[in-house]
Amino acid sequence: MSEVNTSDFNLADLARMNQDEAARQMSICNACRYCEGLCAVFPAMELRRAFAGEDVDYLSNLCHNCGACYDACQYAPPHEFGVNVPQAMADLRENSYQRYVWPAAFAGLFQRNAFWIGLTAVVFVAAFITGVIGWHAAGAMFATYTGDGAFYRLIPHGVLVAIFGALLGYAVLAMALSVRRFWRASHSGEALEPGSIGQAIHDTATLRYLHGGGPGCTGVSGRPSDHRRWCHHATAYGFLLCLASTSLATVCHYLGYEAPYAIWHPVVILGVAGGLGLIAGPIGLLTGRPASARSRNRSADIGLVFIVMLLATSASGLAVLVLRATPAMGLALTIHLGIVAALFISLPYGKFVHGLHRVAALVRHAHEQRAAARH
Ligand code: SF4
Ligand code: SF4
Repeated sequence: MSEVNTSDFNLADLARMNQDEAARQMSICNACRYCEGLCAVFPAMELRRAFAGEDVDYLSNLCHNCGACYDACQYAPPHEFGVNVPQAMADLRENSYQRYVWPAAFAGLFQRNAFWIGLTAVVFVAAFITGVIGWHAAGAMFATYTGDGAFYRLIPHGVLVAIFGALLGYAVLAMALSVRRFWRASHSGEALEPGSIGQAIHDTATLRYLHGGGPGCTGVSGRPSDHRRWCHHATAYGFLLCLASTSLATVCHYLGYEAPYAIWHPVVILGVAGGLGLIAGPIGLLTGRPASARSRNRSADIGLVFIVMLLATSASGLAVLVLRATPAMGLALTIHLGIVAALFISLPYGKFVHGLHRVAALVRHAHEQRAAARH
């Protein structure tokens, strides 16, 4: 199969090409069914005779690119059928992120993702540094701050709440509208039972389908293992622990207990545990990236950008903890805040979207499986 230069096509043309290719491969798989125990894609596929555009969008978001079906497939290249389900699904997923993004004018941010997010991080870091230098007398950046409210003598708490509240509010709105577009396009509109939602939450929290059908995903060694699943767990729960730490710190602040907190304080314990998870998980995902011929596309690039942003966030956050009683705290804090701001605003335009679309796809999958079991 010859290489196609995707930059020659607009988003709609590319969507049709990706959907047609995924539908072609699903038709072959539906006749073969050898991989039906590997993940959610194949049981969902077996409920269909034909594969319309939105249906394959949905199936592509059930795939998590473990590669097990590629490794097992007797019709993979160089066979003339050219079946490479991970590649077809990854191409379609990446295209679907752009088609359902809000606002639609920002679809291009998924192209050259490293450039745009890197630029955003540089701009935010520069803005925090120049803001602090401009606000205070010269030298304040490298003064030593200790005691209650030390961080807020550099940047007032109200300013931080306003900046990060606005960024996070925008990101949540953009992601909610993106998921709503995806959901409306790929779901029939039937009412959902609470059990379907509960099943999807359970499958998400346990990463049920990251087993590659039992032995795990194929990693750099070429052998299946649970490495990728555990790294995803560390990353996801690390992120949630950091969120819990920040939320608890906000509550403590309004109760009159100001940061920085003692090392044994729950805010610090949650933050350190989350930060370590956000270092171990992304490093494991980076070093465990499979080197097989399957699924080389921009999805891998946006995944890499997100991993680097998570690592930068956790490393700079831990640097603030270590340096908080030294003259380097000001610079460490402003760099950390700039990176976190860039992470927040880029959430709707990078790999984080995968998690949201995947949860929506798992809800639909649970709904379909329960409906099929009743008939
Ligand atoms: S990926 Fe290959 S082996 Fe697996 S179901 Fe499809 S055609 Fe069959
Ligand atoms: S790559 Fe893994 S998750 Fe994707 S369809 Fe194949 S077996 Fe399923």
